[in-house]
Amino acid sequence: MTTNRTPLIAGNWKMNGASAESLALARAIAGGATGGCELLVCPPAVLIPPVVAALGGSNVAVGGQDCHFAESGAHTGDIAAVMLADAGCSHVILGHSERRADHGEGDELVRAKTEAAHAAGLVAIVCVGETLAERDSGDTLARISAQIEGSLPAAVSAANTVIAYEPVWAIGTGRTASPGDVAEVHTHIRGDIEQRFGAGVAAGIRILYGGSMKPSNAAELLAIDGVDGGLIGGASLKAEDFLAIARSCP
Ligand code: PEP
Repeated sequence: MTTNRTPLIAGNWKMNGASAESLALARAIAGGATGGCELLVCPPAVLIPPVVAALGGSNVAVGGQDCHFAESGAHTGDIAAVMLADAGCSHVILGHSERRADHGEGDELVRAKTEAAHAAGLVAIVCVGETLAERDSGDTLARISAQIEGSLPAAVSAANTVIAYEPVWAIGTGRTASPGDVAEVHTHIRGDIEQRFGAGVAAGIRILYGGSMKPSNAAELLAIDGVDGGLIGGASLKAEDFLAIARSCP
C-alpha cells in the first residue's frame, strides 16, 4: 500500500435491511470505528436520511448506491446526485456490476452519472471489473481499460473519484481474485489513469478492491501494493466483520 493515500473501507449495503436493524448497524460501526482509514456506508436510498442522522458527529461517511445523470425532471424512481448531497451523502457508487447487469447500464451512462456526481460535489466510486468469461478468454485488461476509458469523464481528480476494481465473478460468490491478479489489474488501472489524467492524479487516486472481501482475507488483499481499501458487500452487513476489515488496513 502506498502510504500517501488514506485507505477507504466502503460498505455497500445493497437492497438489505429495514430501518431498525440498519440504524443499529450504523451505530455499531460508528461506535467501533478507529482511525487509520476512512469509513463509508452506502445504505438503500430510503435509509440515507436516518443513517446520516444516526452517524452525525462520527467519522463514518454516508454514500448512495446510484444516481441519475440529470439534476431533476421526469425520471420516475430515480434519484439525482444533488438529492444525495442534500441528504448528507459525500459519495456515490456508480457503475456497480449489479447496476450494469440488472439495469443495462453501459460506460457512457456511467460517465454521465459520474459527471453529475462531480457537479453535485460528491466523490464518485466508479466500479469496473471483468466477467469470468472475459477473464477466461484473456480479455481482462482490455475490458478494464475500455471501462476506465468509457466511464470516466475528463474532470476526474484524485479528490473527486475513487475506482473500485470488482471482478464480477468474485462478487457475492465467496471467490476472491488471487493477490497476483489483483496487483496486476490495479497496476494496469493506475497506468491507464496516468496516461489519461497525468502522474499526479494516478499517484493520488484511490483504487479499491471489491469481491468477497471478509475479515479472513482482508489483511492479505489490503496489503497488496496499489490496493487502497475495499468495497465490501456481504461483510459490510455485520458491524464486527466490517470493523475487522477496517482494522486490517496496513
Ligand atoms: C460488492 O457488491 O461491491 C461486493 C464486493 O460484494 P461482496 O463483498 O458481497 O462480494
